[in-house]
Order: sequence, then C-alpha cells, then structure tokens
Amino acid sequence: MPIPEPATYEAAPGITGVDTWMAGRSRVTSAYLLHGDQPALVETGPTTSVEAVTAGLNSLGLGPDDLAHIVVTHIHLDHAGGVGTLSHHFNRARIWVHERGAPHLADPSKLVHSATRVYGEERLRELFGPVEAVRPERLQAVSEGDRIELSGRALEVLYTPGHASHHIALVDSQSGAVFTGDALGIHLPDVRVLRPATPPPDIDVELGVESITRIQERAQSLLLFSHFGPVTEVDELCDIAARRLRKWADIVRDALEETDDLDRVTELLERRTADEFEPAQAPDRERYEILSGMRTNAEGLVRYWKKRADAEATASASLRAQPRGPAD
Ligand SMILES: [Zn+2]
Repeated sequence: MPIPEPATYEAAPGITGVDTWMAGRSRVTSAYLLHGDQPALVETGPTTSVEAVTAGLNSLGLGPDDLAHIVVTHIHLDHAGGVGTLSHHFNRARIWVHERGAPHLADPSKLVHSATRVYGEERLRELFGPVEAVRPERLQAVSEGDRIELSGRALEVLYTPGHASHHIALVDSQSGAVFTGDALGIHLPDVRVLRPATPPPDIDVELGVESITRIQERAQSLLLFSHFGPVTEVDELCDIAARRLRKWADIVRDALEETDDLDRVTELLERRTADEFEPAQAPDRERYEILSGMRTNAEGLVRYWKKRADAEATASASLRAQPRGPAD
C-alpha cells in the first residue's frame, strides 16, 4: 500500500493532530503532537501506521532525536500497537502508560494473544501488523493524579477505567483539552455519531460511566478523540456517551434473558440501536465497524454481565457460608 501524504491538522492551541491512516483510511485514528521544548506524542496508532506517523512528525520538523515523550491512553493495538516500532525511530522518547498496561508493552505476548481472539490472525495482521516490545528502561508507568511534565506545560493523568482496566485520559494544562482515548467511545467528525466501544475483556459499564463523568467535570471546552479529532460540545457528547453505554448494556442484559447465542445478541443490539446510526452512510458504517465492531461490542457486554452474575453468586454463597453469631 503506498504511504499517503502526511496529513496533519490543527487540533487545539499548541496541539497538532496527526492522521495515522489506520487501515489505509483517513479520519479513523488520530495521534496528537503537543509542541514545546519537550515535544510529546499522544497515541501512536498501530504498527501499520508507523510510517504515516513518522512522516507526519517529520513534516512538523521533528527528526529522530527530537521527540521527548510518547504517551498512550491505553494499550489496545489501534492506540499503542505501534509504540515499540516507533520507539526505535524516535530513540530518545520516554514512553508513558498506565501502570497496569506497562508490563504488556514490555512483553506484548498476552496482549497479542487476546487481540487475536477478538480479530482472528489474518485480520489482526492486516489491521495492526506485528507488535514490537518497548525496552523496559524506556517505560514510565503512571497512575491517577500523576503529572507528565513537558517543560512549560504538563499532562495530568486521570485514571478512567471502563473501556479497559488500564485506561487513562489526559488533561493538557495549556489548552484545558482532554485526550479521551476510548473512554467516551468512537466519534468520527464527518459523521457525528457517537458509538460506544465495549470490547472484551475489560469493559465495565459502571466504571465507564464514572469515567465519563470525571472527563466531563475536567474538560473545559474541548475533547480530543483518538477516533477522531476535536469536539467542542463537551456536555452534549459526555451525556450521550453515558446514556448510550447504559442503554447498550441494558439491551444486552435483556437479550441474554432470551438467548445465549452471540450472533442473536449482536443482531438484537444492532436492531435496537439502529436509530442512533441513521445519519451514517454505508462507507461510514464500515469505518465505525473497523474500530468498534458490533459483534465485539456485544461480546464484551455479554462478558460483563456474566462476570457480574458470577460475582453476585460468589458474594451470596459466601454470605450463606458465614457462621451465625450468638446474636442471630
Ligand atoms: Zn480501545
């Protein structure tokens, strides 16, 4: 596939978006460059995007020694699959990731194994390419409340689990913009439909809604979606994201009362959310499907409800097993 022209765009004051051309398509997955004495890249896209991202950074005047930091919101391959390879191209950059994700960037074998279960081997190779490890000495693990200092500006870490247990959002001290990763779901700018992203294995609806609320409280005027670009309607998008996440979870819970069959659950989820997707045309739907496939979303939510049922069963069993005290 020929490498597309570097595509960069103004995302916020002092922040340039870099289109990763994921899956050969524009406006699907974005990386962001924060300018300054210590330039920092947020998100890398997958390994198949490394050439496009490198070309984008070069076009902004950054050579191999110039990038100081790479920060990823979480380790899913469309966000961070390329970080190992990119770290070889920019050999001075320090790599920042939530502490729960860090071990999997140093040794991606489990991450690749779990992604293979979701996508299948062929599709995985085609969409993301191979995944290279990051050398452990270059990794910097972060958690809630940490500040990544970039000389004159900083990124504050918000721990925002839900979509993934190691997901973080980042608040830019200079612009007040919040990098949302996948915490709110997917919102493509030319379609303007927000679709939840609820993949296995981690999706947790309650935590996800709490994380959306935290982002809403902190975002002054701008959300920066990894899929894709800036959005100024902070309250509107956060409200929709929380409402749809809950609605989708309820649809799957109701579907599970009638069937365990994943194809049927997917069909019901698709049918009962079809009105949300009305503005999107067929080619747009495909771009959403690449990022947040309906079957994968259904699978994640099925798993979420099963985990909850198991946890409740365990809790009530241990309650029954407790010996009665003299006061009972
Ligand atoms: Zn993700």
